[in-house]
Amino acid sequence: PAAIEVNGVSHVYVNGQGAYPALADINLRVAAGEFVSIIGPSGCGKTTILSLISGLLSPAVGEVRVLGEPVLRPTPKVGYMLQQDYLFPWRTIEENVTLGLELLGLQGEQSGRYVRELLDEMGLGAFRQAFPQQLSGGMRQRAALVRTLAAQPGILLLDEPFSALDYQTRLQLEDLIVTTLKARGKTAVLVTHDISEAIAMSDRIIVLQPRPGRVLAEVIVPEPIRTA
Ligand code: ADP
Ligand code: ADP
Repeated sequence: PAAIEVNGVSHVYVNGQGAYPALADINLRVAAGEFVSIIGPSGCGKTTILSLISGLLSPAVGEVRVLGEPVLRPTPKVGYMLQQDYLFPWRTIEENVTLGLELLGLQGEQSGRYVRELLDEMGLGAFRQAFPQQLSGGMRQRAALVRTLAAQPGILLLDEPFSALDYQTRLQLEDLIVTTLKARGKTAVLVTHDISEAIAMSDRIIVLQPRPGRVLAEVIVPEPIRTA
């Protein structure tokens, strides 16, 4: 089966003020190992789609499947990385990662070694005992990436993880993420409003239009363009 399937999904947010249609009849398929970007203007439903895939939100209409199973609640098989790093400021980098694992019930001897390998691989080996505030923005996002990967999710959801970074740091992190995920055969969905970022990172781009969010176009990104 596809790693991710979104079948006929519509979503309406309801609150005290009224009902807001966010997504209308979304159909998506992401193959295992594929890197897909979702682009579109603010408010077109990008984050809503990630919330549905992660199980943080249930669709009003339609169905979402991850690795062949209907999504009923969040699972460690799906990792989520956000614009802000959400590192605990009073915990070291390594503690932040192991705390994340503990919250998922995954802490153990085995995972301790894996965490240290990941920190080394992300260039954070010397900063295990540092506190988040002592690191640059790019390094903190790398720590957040380690925390997400430590649970060994098959699927990664990335919600504008670069937007708070300066241009050079951003390019480095984009490159690191693609290399790291491809080497491990991970499936990824990136949400961004930056077309050049989507072209640089993805195998395929899905363009959404707003009010309510609908798929406007899908583009396959040819290999030579991506690596240029
Ligand atoms: P994007 O990530 O593309 O900016 P979102 O998925 O965050 O879009 O939002 C899609 C639409 O749903 C927007 O119009 C937004 O205002 C609305 N929306 C998002 N969350 C809520 C909520 N909790 N209650 C009501 N409306 C919401
Ligand atoms: P920036 O956001 O400053 O561009 P990067 O994450 O690209 O940062 O880091 C660039 C390099 O600067 C890092 O690989 C690291 O060696 C060094 N660096 C950044 N912050 C610190 C720090 N607090 N202490 C020591 N070295 C640092």
